[in-house]
Amino acid sequence: MSENLNDLRTTHNLEVQITQLSKLNDFLTAICQNLEMDAFLGDLAGGIAAAAGCKRVAAFVPMAESGGLRCVASFPSELKQEIPALRELSVSIFQADDPVVSALYQSPVSWIQTADHESSRIAAALFARLGETSGAALPLVQNNQIQAVLFADQFLPDAGNQDSLTETLRNLMQKTAIHFRNVQVHSNTVAELAVKVQEQYILHQIDIELSDTIDLSHIFDMTLDWALRFTNAQAASLSLYDQESDTLRFMVEYGYEIDRERLETLRREYNGGITYRVARSGHVEIVPDVSMDKDFIRVHNSTQSQMSVPVMREDRVVAVMSLESKRLNGFADHHQDFVEKLASRAAVAIDNARLYEETELERQKLSYILSSTADVVIVVALDNRIMLINHAALAMLRLYPQDNYVGRSAYNIFENTPLVTVFQRAVKLGENLIEEMKLPDERTFYVNMTRHEGIGWIIVMHDITPFKEMDQLKSELIATVSHDLKQPLSVMHGYTELLTMQQFPTQQAGYFIGMIQRSITNMRQLIDDLLDLAKIESGITLNLEAINLSDILTECVEGIRPAANEKKITMLLQTAPNVTEIQADRRRLAQILNNLIGNAVKYTQPEGEVQVIAEARGSAVRISIQDNGMGISPEDQAHIFERFYRVRRPETDSIEGTGLGLAIVKSLVEAHNGQIGIKSHLGEGTTFFVTLPMQ
Ligand code: ADP
Repeated sequence: MSENLNDLRTTHNLEVQITQLSKLNDFLTAICQNLEMDAFLGDLAGGIAAAAGCKRVAAFVPMAESGGLRCVASFPSELKQEIPALRELSVSIFQADDPVVSALYQSPVSWIQTADHESSRIAAALFARLGETSGAALPLVQNNQIQAVLFADQFLPDAGNQDSLTETLRNLMQKTAIHFRNVQVHSNTVAELAVKVQEQYILHQIDIELSDTIDLSHIFDMTLDWALRFTNAQAASLSLYDQESDTLRFMVEYGYEIDRERLETLRREYNGGITYRVARSGHVEIVPDVSMDKDFIRVHNSTQSQMSVPVMREDRVVAVMSLESKRLNGFADHHQDFVEKLASRAAVAIDNARLYEETELERQKLSYILSSTADVVIVVALDNRIMLINHAALAMLRLYPQDNYVGRSAYNIFENTPLVTVFQRAVKLGENLIEEMKLPDERTFYVNMTRHEGIGWIIVMHDITPFKEMDQLKSELIATVSHDLKQPLSVMHGYTELLTMQQFPTQQAGYFIGMIQRSITNMRQLIDDLLDLAKIESGITLNLEAINLSDILTECVEGIRPAANEKKITMLLQTAPNVTEIQADRRRLAQILNNLIGNAVKYTQPEGEVQVIAEARGSAVRISIQDNGMGISPEDQAHIFERFYRVRRPETDSIEGTGLGLAIVKSLVEAHNGQIGIKSHLGEGTTFFVTLPMQ
């Protein structure tokens, strides 16, 4: 019978255990569905109440900064509302000397008794609110930190004794521990994600705002405002750092309620403080407790920690952001991370703003220089619109300085001035152009028109009227003097002619008369050349006619051949069959050719060679006069066409000449719309090229 009773009891106990296990299993399955922390703790509170047979369970989580407890869930759920004081316990859970706290770290289930009220602030606070004398404290510990704690009280009379309750609760807490870890991970991930999303959103807003401005002070204000808001700092400053002079310039300050002068004095006294240290090192500094830092500049009594972040541009510190917090260790990793990101954005914006300022300054300088220069400067874009026109240009073109001509058609602006023809020609040829331009008011400008890819045409014009006038005066003087010299020279020439008809007392006297005659001839030649040049430069009228080039070349070559023969110089003439007639002034063309062929013979040593070649080149003819004579150095080549320029070398000493021949040749070639060029190597020979249009 008693065996049967025992059997029955065992069976009943087993059934109870099975039911409890199955309930526990159902509860665990249900609780596992929930990954949200507050909901999980609410479910757990309910589970505890059901498993241990108690009426009230309150779940708390510690607050990050103070360690105080915040009630996030309860069983029954109305408990929180019913006892408002339960919502927050200002007592810190991190006090190691509190016996309840140390018990929580040691055991998953600890019982709090009336006596504990005296020794534990936690127990006292709890029961002041719950009004109970005892209960179970169930911690959820991870990584040696209390992550949550549940308090259960008002156990039902049939709930069992403390040991069996401890067993049940321990079992329950152990089973939920793994899932709690998942909930914890999940809630951390969600929290981090939320912070990241928020951060990304803010950074996006910052990007938009910063890229929208080039105003430095606005950039500073905005950057500091964002930093303050994100880090909850109470004061902040942004200072520019100049590496060369190693100086800080505070640009913006927020939250310092003392006047600027006093602030500056303080900063000077402390040599810039932590901010200056960061400016020099280029490394972020978080000072968790400023009372330990000798460099800290105290403005606010309440400041406990500081973070200073350098604003870097290409390995250089350009500015420093400093933030002060009322809290000890008030700056977390994510604050640093955010402010660093902010700093890198600010650096780009500061750089852009600086670049813009510098460019603007340069532009202003350039525009000042351009407007004050006496030279005409005009820039025309490739679509022929005016891009820039300075004051001198407006004055030259007789345009109103008040009007805006930028963007208007260059042809319209240049209309009715000779510049339109010059510009048209340059555009048509697509080549740079240098020429003189005479205005209707008799002023002469030296025009330099250059084409720049990506810009357009840059036209620079210099007023050369005074030079032209001086040149004119000089030419007139030379012409007058030359003319006046001609008369006495003719007389001298006549008398020396007469003298040569006389019998000379000595042979030497005859030699002297010869010398005088040669000098007179040279002087006459010089005067003739001078007068000729003056005539050509003042604008000669050419008597143009169709000339057979081959014929005139033959005439000139044959005319000089006797002189060449004297020096045993071979002379060759080649005229290509495609060379036709050209339009030229016969006398002047002969003058050009005689001069060049004459020079070739004159400056070539005996037994040398002179070749004259004429060939057609498109619509022009090119005549090359080539010798293998003494050649001309590059330095002399640069001056060879100048008036009176003669090469001074030992081998040219004995050769007579005026230095005017090539100047005359160049003027004559240009009067024929042709060009003259030279190619020469010292000691090897010289070739002069004359290109003349065939029509
Ligand atoms: P010049 O009356 O002195 O010949 P030009 O004006 O004709 O004056 O020539 C200027 C200078 O150029 C000459 O003094 C001479 O030194 C140099 N020159 C001209 N033609 C040649 C040439 N074919 N070979 C070498 N030198 C030359």
